[in-house]
Amino acid sequence: MVCIKESLEYFHGSVNLYFLNGVYIISKFINLKTMKKLLIIGLMLFTYVYSSGQEQQKTPLPPIPAAPDKMIPGMTEIWNPEVKIIQSGATNRDAPSDAIILFDGTDINNEWMGMDGKPSIWTVKDGALISTKGSGYIKTKRVFNDFQLHIEWKTPSEVSGNSQGRGNSGVYLQELYEVQVLDSYDNRTYRNGQAGSIYKQYPPLVNACKKPGEWQTYDIIYTAPRFSNDSLTYFTPPRVTVLQNGVLVQNNVSLRGPTQYIGIPEYTIKKHGPLGILLQDHGNPVGYRNIWIREL
Ligand code: MG
Repeated sequence: MVCIKESLEYFHGSVNLYFLNGVYIISKFINLKTMKKLLIIGLMLFTYVYSSGQEQQKTPLPPIPAAPDKMIPGMTEIWNPEVKIIQSGATNRDAPSDAIILFDGTDINNEWMGMDGKPSIWTVKDGALISTKGSGYIKTKRVFNDFQLHIEWKTPSEVSGNSQGRGNSGVYLQELYEVQVLDSYDNRTYRNGQAGSIYKQYPPLVNACKKPGEWQTYDIIYTAPRFSNDSLTYFTPPRVTVLQNGVLVQNNVSLRGPTQYIGIPEYTIKKHGPLGILLQDHGNPVGYRNIWIREL
């Protein structure tokens, strides 16, 4: 038996404590008030020692994620893979290095054909493709899904006809969705049928037409439709943005369906894959030049 004797001078009088097998034994008579103090202090000491031990045994907490105000710029930087480098054109009219040239002012039959697959009978004059009455529509030999298209067009300088009969042609995206080409300079027609419209679906935001006989540009960004399982409705519709002479005239509009002269576009939706670019012969001698396309 081992006894440890301690003296506590804090209390009134001397208190002798003996430590026997882990238990303190008060060996000297003390009054009840002092006993209460001792019990309270003992309880506090026990609580402190016990809680200290518990703290040390706790499993370390995972690190706290950095709060937004603790972030550094590098946390949101993406470096790889590096963005593909291309050569842009000398001007916005000139084809970038990754574009497919659909017409460079020379041979029409490199990239175009008649609707029956035979060589087109459109003429080439002064570097421009000219639709002549009865020559029929033409379309590209290649087919496309999503793309950026640049095309330049000119209505006849000699004005004849009015409304839809003046300088009418059209650029059909995926052979189905017409961006109207028309002499809309001082020539009223229905607003969703003038130049820059998505024919009978969306009028242009503004009339940005130049005078008849002047070259104009369309820059068209097209997103092809994705189809639902029934093949008769769009899962996501075709979407089109058009700039005419650098002016936004169609702002990412969602098409209702293929272009219809008579009828409801939604009724004629039918699943399709990649298709060509089509130019309309509407009986007016409209010219086209400098046509290029970038697949997206
Ligand atoms: Mg047309």
